[in-house]
Amino acid sequence: MIVIENAYVATVSGDEYESGHVAIDGNRIASVGPGPAPDSPGPRIDGSGCLATPGLVNTHHHLYQWLTRGLVQDGTLFEWLTTLYPVWARIDAESVHAAAAANLGWLALSGCTTSTDHHYVFPREGGDLLEAEITAAAEIGVRFHPCRGSMDLGRSQGGLPPDEVVEDRDQILAATEAAIDRWHDPSFDAMTRIAVAPCSPFSVTGDLMRESAALARRKGVRLHTHLAETLDEEEFCREQFGLTPAEYVEDLGWLGDDVWLAHCVHLNDDAIKRFADTGTGVAHCPTSNGRLGAGSARVRELLDAAVPVGMGVDGSASNEANRLAAELQAALLVARLRGGPSALTARESLRLATLGGARCLGRDAELGSLEPGKLADIAVWRVDGLGAAGGVDPVWTFAFSGGALPLELLIVNGEVVVEHGELVTADAGALARNVAAASERVLA
Ligand code: ZN
Repeated sequence: MIVIENAYVATVSGDEYESGHVAIDGNRIASVGPGPAPDSPGPRIDGSGCLATPGLVNTHHHLYQWLTRGLVQDGTLFEWLTTLYPVWARIDAESVHAAAAANLGWLALSGCTTSTDHHYVFPREGGDLLEAEITAAAEIGVRFHPCRGSMDLGRSQGGLPPDEVVEDRDQILAATEAAIDRWHDPSFDAMTRIAVAPCSPFSVTGDLMRESAALARRKGVRLHTHLAETLDEEEFCREQFGLTPAEYVEDLGWLGDDVWLAHCVHLNDDAIKRFADTGTGVAHCPTSNGRLGAGSARVRELLDAAVPVGMGVDGSASNEANRLAAELQAALLVARLRGGPSALTARESLRLATLGGARCLGRDAELGSLEPGKLADIAVWRVDGLGAAGGVDPVWTFAFSGGALPLELLIVNGEVVVEHGELVTADAGALARNVAAASERVLA
C-alpha cells in the first residue's frame, strides 16, 4: 500500500480536498478523501505543498515525429506533410524505438500516464514498427494505446502522400488484424490496447475507411483518424466527394461511441450535433493547431453539446514542445480567444486532459479520475516552489502553468515512473542521445 497524504487532491470526479489523501493498493486506488489516510502498512508520502491529480491522458500523437522536429517552420499542414512524407519513408524499427522511448519519457515527465500513438508510416523494409514502440512504452512504464494507422491513397490516385509511403489495402487490413490479435488487451487494467486508424480523408481511400470500421467492430476495438483539421481538407472533401469531412466519414460508418477523431477544428453546428447524437469523441490538439495555423476548435460548443472531448499533443513535429501538461493552458487560451474569459474553466481543462481523454479511449470506468476501485494512475505536482508559491487555487495555478510545475511523483498502474522530477524507469540522458543519433540518420 502506497499512501500520498497532506496534498491538495483534485479528484476530477466532483470532489476536491484541501488536505487530502490517496491510498493505493496494488494497481488500484483503495481510498481517496479528506485528512490522513487510514492506518496502513507501506510507504507514506508527504504531499504537503503538492497538488494530486489523475494522470494525464494523451489522446492523439505521432511519436516517430520526434525524429523530424523543427522542419517546415512556417508552412501549412499540406506543405508540411508533402515535405516530410519522403523523410518519414526512411524510418525503421530502431529509429521508431528511439523516438518512442524519448517521447514517452518526456510525456511522463509532463504528467502523462496513458498515451495513444497514431502510427501510419510503414516503409516496406522498416521492420516491426509497432513492436518497436510497444517495447518502448513498456520500458518507460506508461499505459499505451497504439493506433495501427495506414495510408492507401497515393499521389497517383489523387491523394496527398507520394506512392512510396502508401501500403496495399489488403496488406494493411491483415497487418492491423494481426496487431490486434498479438497486442490488444481488453482487460480492466490493460497496459496495451490497439485501435484501428487509417490516417486522413486525403491519404486513405473510402474503401479502406469502410473496411477498417468493419474490422474494428468485428474485433471489438476502437476507431481513430484525423478529421476536419484544416480548410484545405474541407476543400479536398468538397471537391472529391461533394461533402464536408464530417458528412464524408458519417457516410463511411465512422460516427459512433467507439470512434474518436483528432482535431475537428472546422465543424459546423450540424456536425457537432451528429457527434453528440452518436457519442463520437474529439481529441483537441490546441498547440498543434496553433503551430500549423490550422484554426481553433469549437471546444465550448462541443462541451455544451455533451460531445466527449480529450486532449492531445499531436505529433512531435507539429507540437514541438510535446508537454501534455502545457496543453491545459493552450486549451484555455484558445477557447478564451474564441469565446471570452468564460469559454473554458481551469477545471474543465483539467477534466479534458484526464476523464475526457479516458472517455475518448473507452476507459472512463478505469482511468481519468481519482476514485476508489479505479487504476492507480496519479500525478503529484509541486505548487509551493518558485513560479507557483502564493497562488490561491492549486488547480488554477496548474492549469495555467504552461506545464512548468515540477512533477514530484508519477504513478502508473501502482508503479512509480517519475520521482522528484526525474524518470526512474529510464536514463533520460541516454534517451536523448539515442533519439538525436536516430534523427541524424533519418535526416541524413
Ligand atoms: Zn495527428
